[in-house]
Amino acid sequence: MQTPIYHGRFAPSPTGPLHYGSLLTAVASYLQARSNHGQWTIRIENIDPSREPKGCIQDILDTLSNYGFVWQGRPYRQIERIHHHLRVADNLLQWGHAFRCQCSRKTLAVCTETGAMGPIYPGNCRYLRLPADQANVIRVLTDHTQLSFTDRNYGVRSYDMASTSGDFVIVRADNLPSYILAATVDDIQQGYTEIVRGHDLLAITARQLYLTDVLGKPRCHFLHVPIITNDQGEKLSKQTHAPALPKWHARHMLVNVLEDLGQSPPKRLRWGSLETLWSWAMTHWDAARIPNCPTITYTDR
Ligand SMILES: [Zn+2]
Repeated sequence: MQTPIYHGRFAPSPTGPLHYGSLLTAVASYLQARSNHGQWTIRIENIDPSREPKGCIQDILDTLSNYGFVWQGRPYRQIERIHHHLRVADNLLQWGHAFRCQCSRKTLAVCTETGAMGPIYPGNCRYLRLPADQANVIRVLTDHTQLSFTDRNYGVRSYDMASTSGDFVIVRADNLPSYILAATVDDIQQGYTEIVRGHDLLAITARQLYLTDVLGKPRCHFLHVPIITNDQGEKLSKQTHAPALPKWHARHMLVNVLEDLGQSPPKRLRWGSLETLWSWAMTHWDAARIPNCPTITYTDR
């Protein structure tokens, strides 16, 4: 069998049921993969099991299935791969691309400047060569590399890593990999060719690509889509009490999502079968029509 050229993924965090914002990202990544005759897999981002309500993963998979998504292989759980992530962090330490840091939150609170990706680490522990038992976290060394990439929706982005990011955390104080480390290592090892995800992760893409470059691996492409906010301008999430997707109004919700993604689904799709809807969506999908504003306010239709 010929290996598909395109490989995409949907990567929900099992902190609560899927909501309209997660559905929009799932639809965009699914249609990108299917319209490119590629593979689409599911990665459950459950590095931190303390935040995972019981039964949440199965609920997410059932909802996706009810909405007509079809994925390849077994959805894999990121927690099963922690030893890979930590081994990469060890390699980076050995190669001199990373260092252990013992700074407390208090130390950092008084001396950090803020860049495009948050507070910039002042470099206190860079050359101390701390042993593991004296350190809190592991950070990657950054320099004034100008990191540029082209997002398929938001265009060319360029960052001076030292002044916009600074040395960033790859292993947290609880000895779990950071989101950046886990996502980068998995994206590389799973061979994704394009990542479709929400605009809130656009800025940290520079860190992921910086890490990819340091590891000497090929970069994948990125396509960020607007995030959905409530009428107070807050991102839909468990924290902002976003309602769970309804079990039985899949077509209605999917047509709303297609409209928000800039496609022009005909009204009849709201009353036809799910198969008709997906067939129309795959034939007419045009990523160039996705709005390139950062957010879209959720409207009940
Ligand atoms: Zn430090």
